[in-house]
Amino acid sequence: MNTALFYETLGKVSFGIIIAIALLFLISTVLGIILIKKHKIILPKVLLFTIDTFYLQIKKLAHMFGMGDKIVDYIGIEIRNKIYAQRFANIDVKDRILVVPQCLRHLKCPARLDPNLGVTCKECGMCVINDLKQESERLGYRFYVVPGGTFVERIVKRVKPKAAFGVACHRDLNMAMHGLADWKCMVQGLPLIKDGCVQTEVDLKELFNRMRLGIEDAIPEVDMECPGDKNTSKTSS
Ligand code: SF4
Repeated sequence: MNTALFYETLGKVSFGIIIAIALLFLISTVLGIILIKKHKIILPKVLLFTIDTFYLQIKKLAHMFGMGDKIVDYIGIEIRNKIYAQRFANIDVKDRILVVPQCLRHLKCPARLDPNLGVTCKECGMCVINDLKQESERLGYRFYVVPGGTFVERIVKRVKPKAAFGVACHRDLNMAMHGLADWKCMVQGLPLIKDGCVQTEVDLKELFNRMRLGIEDAIPEVDMECPGDKNTSKTSS
């Protein structure tokens, strides 16, 4: 092949790749808008592939258009929830874990961090983690309060759950759900309604409902008058 032909072929291939990426972005943007506006997920695997492959670039674009980069993680979480919902529902609850972040704790929490178990809640009742622990035990989940994403991996390596339900800020949750899929672990996730380093909040009612996926008929619903009213689904300082 002479030099001119080589560069001509290279130019055509590059042009083809650019057009394909532009088309993928265009299709994914339309699918993302449908998901956000109508809560309808179409071609979830195409959308997830685009988000996972061009994660940083799409975040920058979202930021440029004033949408806030949380929207990208929100879409990733929603799609993973949809993709794994049925397989998660099929997993026996004794093979499931619930993982929540330590930022839900009360600032005066007396619990200590165990290098293998995470934060070992003493059930003092000062924060919502007490209710999460009790509901997890009632349903049969193993329950962990963790200081960060790397701790989640440590737990999954050790416990080898078949399914994991995670609660975290949008970014950490999307990343953790992505990582756990590599461990053949069926994932579900609920983002915090208020994130940050401390005094974060979770929608307790929504979480309790979604933890019952696949076991709705076997175990009665918890009376939400108790935990929801007592802690208002939040931590306090
Ligand atoms: S209920 Fe909350 S504040 Fe009390 S020990 Fe458990 S995590 Fe700490």
